[in-house]
Amino acid sequence: MHRRKFIRNSSLGLTLLLLGKMGQLTALSGEIYQIKMLNHNTGIFIEKGGTILFQLNKAGIILVDSQFTDSATHLLEELKKRTTLSVNILVNTHHHPDHTSGNIIFQKYTKHILAHANSKINQEYTAIRNHTESMQAYPNQTYTNHIKRKIGNETLRLDYLGAGHTNGDSLVYLKKAGVVHLGDLVFNRMHPYIDKPAGASITNWITILEKIPHIYPANTVFICGHAAKNHSVIITEEDIFLFRDYLKNLLNFTSEQIANGRSRLELLENKSIPGSPEWQDGEASRGLDAAYTELTAHFK
Ligand SMILES: [Zn+2]
Repeated sequence: MHRRKFIRNSSLGLTLLLLGKMGQLTALSGEIYQIKMLNHNTGIFIEKGGTILFQLNKAGIILVDSQFTDSATHLLEELKKRTTLSVNILVNTHHHPDHTSGNIIFQKYTKHILAHANSKINQEYTAIRNHTESMQAYPNQTYTNHIKRKIGNETLRLDYLGAGHTNGDSLVYLKKAGVVHLGDLVFNRMHPYIDKPAGASITNWITILEKIPHIYPANTVFICGHAAKNHSVIITEEDIFLFRDYLKNLLNFTSEQIANGRSRLELLENKSIPGSPEWQDGEASRGLDAAYTELTAHFK
């Protein structure tokens, strides 16, 4: 078993419960996970795939995203140590397997799996295409623009602001806790996956990110699905705007390259996005390919 230690991170005002030491990550890959508490009852779970947000609410546990079956099982074991409550609701920020494959682990503990209507359609389509239908637990409740639920003393609200990372991304707000899970609408210092086949729109994604500070109160804590090594999935408005700038730079650079007669293949040879030097993981081609598709769509 892994040694536990508590760390007080004064700059964020968070109590961190780390299971295992970072140095063990390589040797024990898949067995190491982290739980970071944001306040007395709300925290995040990090192992692999998209960050999970959870709240130990007296009306039942609120979960946002579910990673994979094995990591979801680790979280379930940890939750059982902390509470005898069942799961009130599981929310999926969007359909990607690294956010929804663990749904099946939590399904028997909850009556409610909630996602945007497009997210459910995408999840079903992806499972059929990948022949993984028997391993999927789909949302049984959907919405189109906004939905609000009172759960114990918490208010859960989901907002849909149009296509971004996919065409079914929810911003998930726990009002009392003052926490928003942005799903994959922000990749912190990590080149993003942009799911054009699932209706992603870089142009509208920029608009969504512009709106975020106007939707939530100051001091809201934001969580994103993924961050580069040595960067946090707990992010600020500044990080959100830096990623907005990345998307703008991505579109501008791709547009210039197309105007200069570069082909898609020539574009994909670029290893970085000019103007966004903090994105360094070498996966620039993912965004460039999607930007090329978006900017040339009207020529087809
Ligand atoms: Zn995703």
